[in-house]
Amino acid sequence: MNPFHFTQGSLPLLVSIPHAGTELTPDVEAGLSEAARGLPDTDWHIPLLYDFVRDLGASVLIGRYSRFVVDLNRPPDNQPLYTSATTGLFPETLFDGTPTFAPGKTPDDTARQGYIDQIWQPYHQQIQQELARLKAQHGYALLFDAHSIASEIPRLFDGRLPDINIGTNDGASCTPAMSAALEAVCAAQNDYSWVINGRFKGGYITRAYGQPQQQIEAVQLELAQLNYMDETPPYAWQQARAARLQNVLKALIHAMLAQAKPQ
Ligand SMILES: [Zn+2]
Repeated sequence: MNPFHFTQGSLPLLVSIPHAGTELTPDVEAGLSEAARGLPDTDWHIPLLYDFVRDLGASVLIGRYSRFVVDLNRPPDNQPLYTSATTGLFPETLFDGTPTFAPGKTPDDTARQGYIDQIWQPYHQQIQQELARLKAQHGYALLFDAHSIASEIPRLFDGRLPDINIGTNDGASCTPAMSAALEAVCAAQNDYSWVINGRFKGGYITRAYGQPQQQIEAVQLELAQLNYMDETPPYAWQQARAARLQNVLKALIHAMLAQAKPQ
């Protein structure tokens, strides 16, 4: 099975969605703990929430496998992403700290190497290929890494997460002008709380590919899930809330495209 869905667009923009996948390998499926079986840490419905970008003309890359198989937004050497509590390339625990796997059922090193070779690598090769194609065609490339997470996870952050969490690797993954353009969109609305480079500064994808000096600008958006879905199983999509949130997402994407366009 192809480990990702990819559609090519006409704009200089690639939208990457690494954590919405729910496919499992047989080893992982057989080994998941009771608490992990409902795939609680999935970035639920993100492809649907960002469906509009395809009509705009963006390229879209969507991982098909669950992060419980291998996390596409972690470095392949599994260095920790944050100094605070985090989860790794092969999450041993759920966000709330409960074990991901039943005792003795964690996939072995051979299985895990296979997940890197057959799932992690192809996703990243596709990002690299597409960014190179966009740059060749347009002279620059934009990468938008789309995520969501439950609004309250005491083990990972205090209190309630802001609604909109923009990450630019502390300013290293895009130009200051791009950061300012996104900030202006956030500041122009009063519906959602927001922060830039707060708890979520951008994961491996944002950090690895955001190289503004090479004409590649990358931004991560971590959304609080309550603004478009129920945060408890079965994690239902909430259309009215989603439609309202999509207005801001569209404004952010348009601002990104307008800012990057050569004058
Ligand atoms: Zn995510």
